Amino acid sequence: MRCVLCERDIHPMLTWEGLFCRRKKWVACARCYAKFERARADSYEGINTLYIYNEAMKEWLHRFKFAKDSVVAHIFADELKRAFKRYKRAVVVPIPMHVDKKRERTFAHIDVLLEAAGVRYTHLLEKTTSDSQSQKSQQQRQKSATLFRRNAIQLKKDTPLVLVDDIVTTGTTIRHAREVLEQDGFINIEVVVLISARL
Ligand SMILES: [Zn+2]
Repeated sequence: MRCVLCERDIHPMLTWEGLFCRRKKWVACARCYAKFERARADSYEGINTLYIYNEAMKEWLHRFKFAKDSVVAHIFADELKRAFKRYKRAVVVPIPMHVDKKRERTFAHIDVLLEAAGVRYTHLLEKTTSDSQSQKSQQQRQKSATLFRRNAIQLKKDTPLVLVDDIVTTGTTIRHAREVLEQDGFINIEVVVLISARL
């Protein structure tokens, strides 16, 4: 078995990490996994993040989102699965595909991540705009109209929801998504994001 990141052979049981990390799915080698930086357990503005954006994560994101290499989605399957265990009764709601690359992208990357982790999800939001978020300043982003709208799927308003995104920078995307769900009457909304890139 070879590491999908560096292509070296994987020998999980020959490393301390392999013996003690409870990892079930060895997609990358221990050396590559060690390059990803775990986020601290406390959440920020109610957003639970799993990893910190660093050089290894930058490379991973590039392969996953821009080279559309869905094999690397499995790298964080164990971590995501574990993160969602505490939300057993919640409905997992992916942020819809980001508008900036919508036309170029062929797959909804959040859905792909969740599927790799075996986490069931339900789309409750859809995009309303095709403007590029990344080309706007932070002020423009905050002023811009709502990015999402509720779709037709109906749920009881006291259903706990967990919004999921791959990366958080300013938090604007999450804020918009949460607002739309709150305006629809949902009262119990948590947020899980794979990577924190907050400055
Ligand atoms: Zn490796």
